[in-house]
Amino acid sequence: MESNSNENLDKNSTIEKKPRYSTEINHICNGLSRPERNLSKSLEEFKRGDSQLRDISGYSRRARDMVLSDTSIDKNNQILGSTDLVREFSEIAAENLKNHMEEHEVKLAMDPKERNVKGIKIANKYPGFNFLSEIHGFLEKGSRGAKMIDQCFQKEYGKSVMTLLEELFRNKNEINGAHLLVSQIASRPENALTIGYYLAERSALNEERQKELYEPILDEVKSEYSDSFLKLARQLNLPEEHIQRTLEQIKLTGFSSFDPLLEGITVAESCSLGDYSSGSHSIEVKFGGNTRNPTLPSKEEARKTIRHEVGHSAQAQDENCLGLDVGNHHGTAVSEGLVEYLAQYAGNFPDLRELPNGSTYFNTPYSLELNTHRILSKRHPEDFKAIFHANFGNILPGLRDALQNYYRILKNTIEQSKRAKARRNKNPFNRFFHRFRKPHKNS
Ligand SMILES: [Zn+2]
Repeated sequence: MESNSNENLDKNSTIEKKPRYSTEINHICNGLSRPERNLSKSLEEFKRGDSQLRDISGYSRRARDMVLSDTSIDKNNQILGSTDLVREFSEIAAENLKNHMEEHEVKLAMDPKERNVKGIKIANKYPGFNFLSEIHGFLEKGSRGAKMIDQCFQKEYGKSVMTLLEELFRNKNEINGAHLLVSQIASRPENALTIGYYLAERSALNEERQKELYEPILDEVKSEYSDSFLKLARQLNLPEEHIQRTLEQIKLTGFSSFDPLLEGITVAESCSLGDYSSGSHSIEVKFGGNTRNPTLPSKEEARKTIRHEVGHSAQAQDENCLGLDVGNHHGTAVSEGLVEYLAQYAGNFPDLRELPNGSTYFNTPYSLELNTHRILSKRHPEDFKAIFHANFGNILPGLRDALQNYYRILKNTIEQSKRAKARRNKNPFNRFFHRFRKPHKNS
């Protein structure tokens, strides 16, 4: 869900930017004790097909299915008819596509400094060119939607998508403005049904691609995660209703359509390994490499990402709460740390490493936040229990104290880590050595 503040959870660990822990703890406790909270909302929406698919169309799963099944097309790829509802969905999808391309124009017009100050980065530098390239790829696979939208381009510009791409390749300066070609097509009301159909087909094909690549890993992770969650939940006396709801959420977790126009294709572009779209129970795995030459992550990398993202689907509540994250970065540290702790727990701590001096660290995103949960679970099991319960919707009276303890330990852990880093930097050998360590990426 684009508008949801949890959407970018997997971009940055925000703890150091938000040091006012007491304010944060208040926000978390208030957010989690809202009487109108509906813990089953995301599950109910998913079952009704109302979850967002997280792509440029803005379709829900039900809307996408309807567009694909209720649009009749002849053998020459001409639309014969559709329902009023499909027309409505298609018009909204075409409008979303047009807006996306026009927003890019606004971003391009901004002074680069202003862009930086506002924190706006163009994750996808050439959305129009990428959109056309994607049509070309789907044309080669025989997609009907791609053939239909290709006809729209021929009608508007007298050229096929392939010809337009060849021209853009010859004159690279034009690539920058290719989004205008797309917004022009998307703004014609007579193209709405075609665009709606193409975007629905594209969404389904992109989702299918994630399934082809990673579904076996997802199934294994879900089974492993359910077992370990159940073991821990029983140990910590999580009420049965929360156990059952969480198990159901894990079970139905699937892939989203992975739209390269929204967040880029690769880890390098998005700065995240994967993503979970709040409320959708849909996850995605980013590619490695760069946009021109994306590569697939290794199976182990993909497994690691999927394990983390399944944890988000397990903790999903209503649109305002994802575990202990109640929006606007409040609770992100404790929530992400727990998601990664539970992912590590499910995989029997695969990323725990030992240093020659006997101390340990996690070679994984949110390592400090995760380590804090590990310390809490060993030294303050009642606090860990309160946080674990809250992550799955059950609020115990000791939550506020538990959060205070968590943030106190986290603060110490961060300071220790800074001191250790400073010591390392004083040693020239370590400076050299650390240059060759793989940088951490958040997921
Ligand atoms: Zn995350």
